[in-house]
Amino acid sequence: MSLTERIIRIIEVHGPISVAQFMSIALHDPMHGYYARRDPIGSSGDFTTAPEISQIFGELLGAWMLQVWREQDAPSPARLVELGPGHGTLMADVLRMAKLDPEFLSSIQITLVETSPRLRKAQAEKLKDAPVTVYWAERFDDTLTDRPLFLLANEFFDALPIRQFVQTEYGWCERMVGLDRERNLAFALAPSSRALDIPAGCGKPRAGDIYEASPISEAITGQIAAVIARHGGAALIVDYGYGANSGFGETLQAVAGHKFASVLQNPGEADLSSHVDFAALARTAENAGAKTYGPVAQGALLGELGIDIRAERLASANPEQADNIAAAVKRLRSPEQMGTLFKALAILPKGAARPPGFQ
Ligand code: SAH
Repeated sequence: MSLTERIIRIIEVHGPISVAQFMSIALHDPMHGYYARRDPIGSSGDFTTAPEISQIFGELLGAWMLQVWREQDAPSPARLVELGPGHGTLMADVLRMAKLDPEFLSSIQITLVETSPRLRKAQAEKLKDAPVTVYWAERFDDTLTDRPLFLLANEFFDALPIRQFVQTEYGWCERMVGLDRERNLAFALAPSSRALDIPAGCGKPRAGDIYEASPISEAITGQIAAVIARHGGAALIVDYGYGANSGFGETLQAVAGHKFASVLQNPGEADLSSHVDFAALARTAENAGAKTYGPVAQGALLGELGIDIRAERLASANPEQADNIAAAVKRLRSPEQMGTLFKALAILPKGAARPPGFQ
């Protein structure tokens, strides 16, 4: 039975499901979910990510982590955790940098948080010569909360489920996925409205406005921030999304084969993602007792961290690659490409030094 048919039957039995439930099934169904079936990343996949564009991205983030770890008096033991590591490329590039500081390597235990068995395999292969044992976890759980936490997440939060609410004359009604008369998946509104705690900066909603919230993203961020506040450490979250208050508007999108697709058509075949609401994540982290910096634009952050110098060095060591390196740097930095839409948020303990790149 196709995933579409299974979702239709779930709705027939239980009634309409939330957009978040629909996303969870479409992305993570163990048999037919998108991440179970496909390798999404790279030219043969559906999208490309910064670590796959250039090794410099991971090296700069690695140097950032080393510096922040040193500034907090080199805590040992500590954890290095990555959420949603894809092909393991970012971690491999971080570890290349980390080899410059053997004390860091001997202090950390590495855990990759990944749901997809297929991507876990790719990560294990990429990291088979890693200088530190690599462990895996299905989610960020209590086993990761006992010591200083140094955490990276690139394009992880955009993949987490969101709920959508539509402003109607009765108030906010949740947008659900139900069935139309022809038994096709279709959006519908929940019959009763509910009060939402919307940040003042969003302005006054008008009829038809859509508000997106990702309770799961906030829960994970709160948990991470609480560990950092308590034991020390740092999180660097990079993703595409809003800087200030998100305001109203729909950002849920489906992408297949590097092109936009329909959200409800062929669940499991397309990647689903949405803009990350950095203001919401920052608020959650601060409420958990940590201090946040940014979000800053990815282009600006990479500039501050010295992308030009690294690119120059890499190009002079590999002159035949010079044009590719320049093109990759441009893609990561320029405002027309990933430089502005992508942003970075840092979470540190109160009282820790301001992290590099977040002036
Ligand atoms: N960080 C990588 C991959 C981004 S794709 C890169 O930049 O290339 C999103 C990643 O998050 C994939 O590895 C996917 O399997 C993982 N993922 C998505 N939802 C997840 C969840 N709920 N828990 C753990 N991992 C998840």
